[in-house]
Amino acid sequence: MTAVQEYPPERDVSRELPRVGVFVCNCGINIGSVVNVTEVADFAAELAGVVHTEEFLFTCSQDNIIKIKERISEHKLNRVVVASCTPRTHAPLFQSSMKEAGLNPYLYEHANIREQSSWVHREFPKEATEKAKDLVRMAVAKVRLLKPVQPTFIDVNPKVLVVGGGIAGMTAALSLAEQGFHSVLVEKSRDLGGMANELCYSYDGGDLPRFLNGLKADVKANELIEVMLKSQVQNVAGYLGNYKTKIIRNDESTSEIEHGGVIIATGANPVVPTEYLYGENPSVITQVQLEQRMYYQGLGDANTIVMINCVGSRNRKDLIAVGSAVLNL
Ligand SMILES: Cc1cc2nc3c(=O)[nH]c(=O)nc-3n(C[C@H](O)[C@H](O)[C@H](O)COP(=O)(O)OP(=O)(O)OC[C@H]3O[C@@H](n4cnc5c(N)ncnc54)[C@H](O)[C@@H]3O)c2cc1C
Ligand code: SF4
Repeated sequence: MTAVQEYPPERDVSRELPRVGVFVCNCGINIGSVVNVTEVADFAAELAGVVHTEEFLFTCSQDNIIKIKERISEHKLNRVVVASCTPRTHAPLFQSSMKEAGLNPYLYEHANIREQSSWVHREFPKEATEKAKDLVRMAVAKVRLLKPVQPTFIDVNPKVLVVGGGIAGMTAALSLAEQGFHSVLVEKSRDLGGMANELCYSYDGGDLPRFLNGLKADVKANELIEVMLKSQVQNVAGYLGNYKTKIIRNDESTSEIEHGGVIIATGANPVVPTEYLYGENPSVITQVQLEQRMYYQGLGDANTIVMINCVGSRNRKDLIAVGSAVLNL
């Protein structure tokens, strides 16, 4: 029962010089009590390409939406700027009135003088007014350069390529599968699990290897997930929603996957320190190695442990030699 809105044919403005209409909103007192809206509208009237400016109390009211359409036709406007609230909620409304007046809706620009001026600079009305003028000036400069856009619709391949088979990649693939989407999980190493393979405990002391094995089993058993181990992306071609990606395996064999989305879950590697005798003295180990030692063999007769945090990221290189410590593990 929904009526499909019909629009008049679009006016060809390609040979016209820009004729910009600027509509500045008070939003009741939301903008008007801080920004001097009349001053902003007067300022806009002097800008190159502007042939009409108007101040409204509430631009989004039905009356004023009709007025915008009338002004487009009266002044032969071919570009529109509205200076009001956030474009996120209101730009589509004003673009729709342009369509109803026979203008391409992409010949539109929005200046957000409420969230970006009156609301955030409430205590500084003079400066807020100057900023609002600046925002309008930028919007007018941009709108003059805009060209009509004709949207087209294309099919999107619903298959997803997930690069990286760590916890994030596996969780993403399982979540896609739950929603009914196929995915191809490409992992460069010989096993799923990533960094978590090196770890023993979760942050709250839980059994990470057990959790990880469960996750791997779920992924392998899921018919909607194709796992490719020892594989990497070699080349990506195509366009939004329709990609052809070449995968190369360790044995140099290649295959091509067609997909519409990509999730990159390639994780990170812990830094390998070059400081504090790491690699030179066996008592100096990283935190991951410490965790493995505690899990698999215990700490033995270690009675003094020194933790050195943020190694390599905050220390001055010339002080490292002085600070080098031999840990008594
Ligand atoms: C030092 C350290 C200690 C940690 N300690 C704990 C802890 O005690 N407890 C805890 O719960 N969490 C811990 N974490 C966090 C936990 O390891 C991570 O949150 C989690 O494992 C990250 O998973 P991920 O999938 O994002 O990345 P990763 O596990 O890094 O997985 C990324 C995967 O992508 C693959 N990959 C990378 N590049 C490519 C490519 N080009 N093509 C194909 N595959 C690729 C890698 O081989 C890897 O398998 C620690 C992390 C670090 C770094
Ligand atoms: S267009 Fe935005 S700023 Fe203007 S009255 Fe409506 S809500 Fe307020």
